Amino acid sequence: KDLLDVVIIGAGPIGIACAIEAQKRNLSYVVIEKGPLVNSLYNYPTNMTFFSSSEKLEIDQIPFISKNAKPSKAEALEYYRRIATSKKLDIHLFEKVNSVKKSGDFYEVETSKETYSSKNVVIATGFYDIPNYMNVKGEDLPKVYHYYNDPHYFSNQDVIVVGASNSSVDAALEVYRKGGRVSMVVRGKSIGERVKYWVRPDIVNRIEEGSINAYFNSIITEIRENEVDIEDENGNKKTLKNDFVLALTGYRPNFKFLEEVGIQLRDKENKIPKYDPQTMETNLKGVYLAGVICGGLETHKWFIENSRIHAKMIMENISCN
Ligand code: FAD
Repeated sequence: KDLLDVVIIGAGPIGIACAIEAQKRNLSYVVIEKGPLVNSLYNYPTNMTFFSSSEKLEIDQIPFISKNAKPSKAEALEYYRRIATSKKLDIHLFEKVNSVKKSGDFYEVETSKETYSSKNVVIATGFYDIPNYMNVKGEDLPKVYHYYNDPHYFSNQDVIVVGASNSSVDAALEVYRKGGRVSMVVRGKSIGERVKYWVRPDIVNRIEEGSINAYFNSIITEIRENEVDIEDENGNKKTLKNDFVLALTGYRPNFKFLEEVGIQLRDKENKIPKYDPQTMETNLKGVYLAGVICGGLETHKWFIENSRIHAKMIMENISCN
């Protein structure tokens, strides 16, 4: 097989942006994606609206036309798919990268389907594949979800939503409005400060009026078929009647994969990988990071708007070398 200039891992918005920049510079490239195109976005809640306005989600300055200022999930899927197809980007879907190994002057990228040889590798794998588990008894029951899709399923059911950030708040409000009986179990003392400013008053008011129960300074200690035990910071325990648990406690990048590739960490506590902010190159020559993966555990630091620039920085660096 031919030696490629670059293999891009992940066909999220930033992986796609990397492919466009590689194509512009006549670099030989391939994008490997383990799921469908923009897999993370595809798995977002059906009714979600982006917090960014559409022009901030644009890549390569291709206009993103949406009906309202903040686009829906369906509009974003349409946008990124049309870019990938009209630019005829070389994206291999449903092919997972298992390992990246140095072999002489280049890298061997082994996937679920074949092995590619490449001078450079861009890791743009995001953070949406691995949930932050609560590590409590019963978390593996089928009634516990770490990804939330649609509210209809939970109508007329006793539903616990864990967490108080954007995903949890959106899910709690939707499920409540479709007739679910919602209790939020929140480790902190209030609804998250980063919750979208136009949504925050809605959840605060629903809690204040008692339409949604909220247990602050509390954690789940055990989940059973029909009940959940919770405990507050003072050790007070309570058992809640329960049909479903939506544990929307955030997600984290695949650190094991980064470690196996050989990427070192700059900040061990927040697990922030080491990379040159001018070029996005890691401690391994020719291996780059792009997109939200750069933030380590600080998954809120990077998003599409401020990381789409990585694509240009990386491909400029690769074409100069
Ligand atoms: P991702 O979109 O996560 O893409 C990574 C891709 O890599 C995935 O498709 C994944 O399947 C693939 N992959 C992973 N491992 C492998 C492997 N081993 N082999 C092959 N492929 C692999 N950001 C904004 O800018 N604005 C918003 O409004 C916004 N709203 C959000 C709402 C929700 C509910 C969530 C969870 C996130 C939101 N974000 C938003 C953050 C957003 O997810 C990221 O900004 C965006 O998806 C980052 O793109 P990315 O290409 O870096 O990563």
